[in-house]
Amino acid sequence: MSQKIAIIGSGFLGLTLALRLVESGAKVTVFESAPEIGGLASAWQIGDVVWDKHYHVTLLSDSYTRKIVEEIGLGDEFDWVETKTGFYTDGKLVSMSNSLEFLRFPPLDLISKFRLGGTIFYASRVKDWKALEKISVEDWLAKLSGKKTFEKMWKPLLKAKLGEAYKETSAAFIWATIQRMYAARNSGLKKEMFGYVRGGYARVLEKFGAHLAEKGVKIRLNSRVEKIEKFENKVIISTAENVESYKAQVMLNALQNYSEITVRSVTSTAKSSEFDSVILTCPSNVAAKIVPQLSGEEKQKLENIKYQGIVCASVLLKKSLSDFYVTNITDDVPFTGIIEMSALVEKSEFGGNALVYLPKYVAPDDELFEKTDGEIEEIFLDKLEKMYSHFSRTDVLAFKISRVRQVFPIPTLDYSQNLPPVKTSLENVFVVNSAQITNGTLNVNETIQLAEKFFENYLKH
Ligand SMILES: Cc1cc2nc3c(=O)[nH]c(=O)nc-3n(C[C@H](O)[C@H](O)[C@H](O)COP(=O)(O)OP(=O)(O)OC[C@H]3O[C@@H](n4cnc5c(N)ncnc54)[C@H](O)[C@@H]3O)c2cc1C
Repeated sequence: MSQKIAIIGSGFLGLTLALRLVESGAKVTVFESAPEIGGLASAWQIGDVVWDKHYHVTLLSDSYTRKIVEEIGLGDEFDWVETKTGFYTDGKLVSMSNSLEFLRFPPLDLISKFRLGGTIFYASRVKDWKALEKISVEDWLAKLSGKKTFEKMWKPLLKAKLGEAYKETSAAFIWATIQRMYAARNSGLKKEMFGYVRGGYARVLEKFGAHLAEKGVKIRLNSRVEKIEKFENKVIISTAENVESYKAQVMLNALQNYSEITVRSVTSTAKSSEFDSVILTCPSNVAAKIVPQLSGEEKQKLENIKYQGIVCASVLLKKSLSDFYVTNITDDVPFTGIIEMSALVEKSEFGGNALVYLPKYVAPDDELFEKTDGEIEEIFLDKLEKMYSHFSRTDVLAFKISRVRQVFPIPTLDYSQNLPPVKTSLENVFVVNSAQITNGTLNVNETIQLAEKFFENYLKH
C-alpha cells in the first residue's frame, strides 16, 4: 500500500493502526493534540514518580495487548500478581477475595448472597449479548438478584460508574463487566492474576513510539486537528499546531510593542497537509465537529453517543491504605472506588511509597470538572480520613488530578443498532473509536483488537 494516511489520535487505537499500516507499506502520520502519545493510557509525573495517569492492569487473557507488547520487545517485562479485592460497605472495609469471604460478606443475608452469586454465574454463561441490549440493566439485575440486593449492592456500584445514566444503560454493560471479571480468573490458573509491564505504560509507550519512528511513522504532537475536508481525491487536514508556542511569541512581541508581527504570527499557526485517507480515533462528538462535510444523519448519530467522563486523582502516599488492589464502595462517598497500585506493583517502582488512585466517573457536564485541584483534594482527602483511621494528610507526598470529559460511551438500549458505520459517506474518511466496542468493556485489549479487526476488514488489500 503506497497511500499517505493520516491518523487522528495517538491512543492505543491510533498507534496500533499506525503500526499495521506502516508495515503494509503506507506512509503514516499521526496527529496528537496532547504533548505526548498514549491518550488515556499515557503516563505523568506524580511527585518523584512517573506512572500511568489512570490505573491500568493487563489480564493473562489479554492476548492482543500481550502480542503488541511482545512485538515492541517488552514481552518478558510483565510481572503477574495475585491480587485481593475489598469492599467498603456500611462504613466498614471487608475483604471479598474468595468464595469463603463472599459467604461471610456482612451486608447481605444468605439467600440474597446465593441470588447475587447466581446472577454473576448466569451472566458469565450468557452468550447472546445482543438480546441483553434490549433490557435495562436495572430491570435485569433486579429480576435476577432481587430488588433488595439490587438496591444494596448493584445500584451503588452502577451509580459509581455510570451516575444517573445507569437508568438508560442496557444489561449488556454488566454482562461485559462480568465477562472480563471471569476472564481474569479463567486463564488456566483459576486465580485472579493481574499484570503490568515493569516501568508501567510510560515504558510501553516510549518503546512503542520508538518502534514506530524506526519504521518511518511521523508523530505530530501538540497538533490538534481542527478541520478535515475532502477536496477532489485528497483529504486536507488542518491543525492548530504549536499554538502555545505562538501564544508565547505573541506575548513576547506585545511586550516589545511589535503588534503587527504578532498578528501575522497568530494566523500562521494553522497548518494544512494533504493525505489520501484519514482515520479518526478521537471521541465521536469531536469527529462530528471536525468533519463538516459528513451528512446531517452521520453527524447526528455521532453526536447521539453519550459519554461518561472521569476526574481521577493520583495520590502518592508514604504508607499504604490497604492490601486490596481494588476497593469497591457501596456507601455514598465522593469517589467511585479506591485503586491501590502499590498492592500490585513493587513499591520500589514508587520510591518505596504507595500509589493510590481515587477515580470519580461523572457526566461530561458535571460540576466536578469546574472545581479547582485544591477543592477536589480537600473533598477527597477529607473522606479518606473518615474511612481509614490510620490515614493522615501528612502521609500525602503528591496529589495530582486528571480530568477527561469523554472516556467511554454509555451502552444505552439497542446501542449497537444505532452506531454509525466506521466507513463514512466521504470516501477514505473513517471514524473508528471506542464507541465501536459493543460487546466488551473499555480496556487496552479491546482497543487493540478493534484496531486489528478494522485494519483486516477495511485497510488490508
Ligand atoms: C481510569 C481508567 C482506567 C483504565 N484501566 C484500564 C485497565 O486497567 N486495563 C486496560 O486494559 N485498560 C484500562 N483503561 C482503558 C484504556 O486506557 C483504553 O482502552 C485505551 O487507552 C483507549 O485508547 P484509544 O486510542 O481508543 O483512545 P484514547 O486513549 O482516548 O486516544 C484518543 C487520542 O486522540 C487524541 N485527540 C482527540 N481529539 C483530537 C484532535 N482533534 N486532534 C488530535 N488528537 C486528538 C487525544 O488526545 C487522545 O490521545 C482505563 C481507562 C481509564 C480512563
